[in-house]
Amino acid sequence: MRIPGAGGVQDIRIYEVAFRDAWSLIFDCLNDIGIDVDSRDEEHFVVHGHKKNKYFDITLQDMGDGAVQLFFDQHKKHIEVYTWRPDYSDVDAFYKLYEQRLIEMKAFIRCTRCGHKVRANTKFCPECGTKINFNEDAIDNSDEKKGFFETIFRSDD
Ligand SMILES: [Zn+2]
Repeated sequence: MRIPGAGGVQDIRIYEVAFRDAWSLIFDCLNDIGIDVDSRDEEHFVVHGHKKNKYFDITLQDMGDGAVQLFFDQHKKHIEVYTWRPDYSDVDAFYKLYEQRLIEMKAFIRCTRCGHKVRANTKFCPECGTKINFNEDAIDNSDEKKGFFETIFRSDD
């Protein structure tokens, strides 16, 4: 599930994979797409990184029952009012690589609607028909009124 936000984007996905594997895979993928890791919290499983003027917070959560939730948050240093052409290239590259590796590991993805387990390369949930291609599963709020945050925040880049 993807939620475009103010100058950034959040993406939340659930996978059926061993927690430790999911955790270490994050660093492989960040490294491969050129995101520098600034800090890693091995207690709460949070990674902070950056690439040029983009900042990334990635959180891994143990959902129990063999599932993990990966939360990817991309943002600018300061909240940006409105982005005409939001840049999702890094989040796309990250998940593409991450899920490619999961497929190689024969991991499962949980359907975000019904929780059914599907192979990481499945297009539609066989249980409820929900599209599993997360990259296209975006909440489109592009018609959001410009100017709502303008009075409160101002971008400086
Ligand atoms: Zn489903």
